[in-house]
Amino acid sequence: MLEVTRETNSSFQFMKEACTVMPGGVTANIKFFSPYPLVMKRADQAYLTDLDGNQYIDYLLSYSALILGHGHPKIAEAIQKQIENSGTWLFGTPHQLEVDFGKMIQHFYPSIELLRYTNSGTEATLLALRFASAYTGKYKVAKFEGHYHGGHNQVLFSINPDIGEAGPFKEPNVVPDSKGLSKQDGQQTIILPFNDLEASEEILRKHCDEIGALVLEPVQGGFIPAEQRFIEGIRQLTKELGIVLIFDEVKTGFRVSLGGAQEVYGIKPDLTTLGKVIGGGFPIGIVGGKKEILMESAPVEESNGKELSSKDVLFHSGTYNGHPMILAAGMETVKVLEKEIDHVFQMTDILRKALESLFFNKGIDMQTLGIGSMFNIALTDRDIYNYRDYQKSNFELRKRIDMALLDKGVYTKPLNRYSLSTCHGEEEIAKTVEAYRKVLMEI
Ligand code: PMP
Repeated sequence: MLEVTRETNSSFQFMKEACTVMPGGVTANIKFFSPYPLVMKRADQAYLTDLDGNQYIDYLLSYSALILGHGHPKIAEAIQKQIENSGTWLFGTPHQLEVDFGKMIQHFYPSIELLRYTNSGTEATLLALRFASAYTGKYKVAKFEGHYHGGHNQVLFSINPDIGEAGPFKEPNVVPDSKGLSKQDGQQTIILPFNDLEASEEILRKHCDEIGALVLEPVQGGFIPAEQRFIEGIRQLTKELGIVLIFDEVKTGFRVSLGGAQEVYGIKPDLTTLGKVIGGGFPIGIVGGKKEILMESAPVEESNGKELSSKDVLFHSGTYNGHPMILAAGMETVKVLEKEIDHVFQMTDILRKALESLFFNKGIDMQTLGIGSMFNIALTDRDIYNYRDYQKSNFELRKRIDMALLDKGVYTKPLNRYSLSTCHGEEEIAKTVEAYRKVLMEI
């Protein structure tokens, strides 16, 4: 029997009050979990502290964004300097950092010839799809079952479908992930089975005259990698069929490797979306890729500098795009990461192996999945290539373990993946493994 020892009543009381202000007490549904989410009041490096003063090693890291951990002094300094040197936090005009930051991104992501800044990953994927439509004149999007690309209508389908509604694996149904989506929204989206090249090819060929973009998470959910043969096949196929291939690297960018999943796989997508890590914990997104696609948004003709009318240009705007403070934070993040990413990979590896060995010794089927600085735990001995395989793992036991780990000071949102930071060292790994050891004994 698992024993709950930690006092978390302040979080419970807080959530009751929060419900009088925000629906369900949260301002992002992902922040909620039953019976009530833990509410934090402080954070430092690899640690979170809740309202009752309990400390947790943070493996959620704001859904992978905080790769330098909490409150890194170099980021604080970079922001401060940026404000001091420029006298403002927002110019509302072009400025130097937009170019410097962009060059840094081009360096790590050679597929990105030109780019535009947005304020979130959601905005980035939304814009990427518009680029694809402007460029191809085709308006449907193909996405994979189980892949998340932000909260806009066209991609809010079949992210987490009920298996009963999901249809045949090789030709999945289009299942809404939200209320408020119209039938017409669903008709603009086509769902493909991840890591099944032959079935995906059949669907793509059938609808190639309507599909402008194929968007995917090269590592699904940040932990189920595409197979090399599969992703190479998808690259070839999209080229042949005139479909813009978008790698959504909002999670994987600077996390599976500095150059993202495209570097790991050695593949150049047509467009890439980035977010999370590159803002150093502040809101940002990027769409980048082939010049001829990105030029759809240029307000002037390249050859003669003549201003174009709005109907001839892809609309992209935003008060905060290319925010100097955020770009300064992101630049500093990448600078530190260049020196320390190997440490993050090494710690991730050590933690994965230690956990695998604990579960093995306990006789519980378990595997860790992922690349680089993120991984997830699947309680099954079956191979996992896609959403449906993962659904067959033991979520009920995993949830019990995750709840018990919260009680022992290891934080991730139950069932979420693990992300590590430059602040996760041997001490944190040892404490985590010890917490797991105790939980597995009690379970
Ligand atoms: N794409 C992917 C792959 C993501 O993981 C996320 C965020 N989890 C998004 C897009 C949306 O990014 P944001 O939350 O910044 O809007």
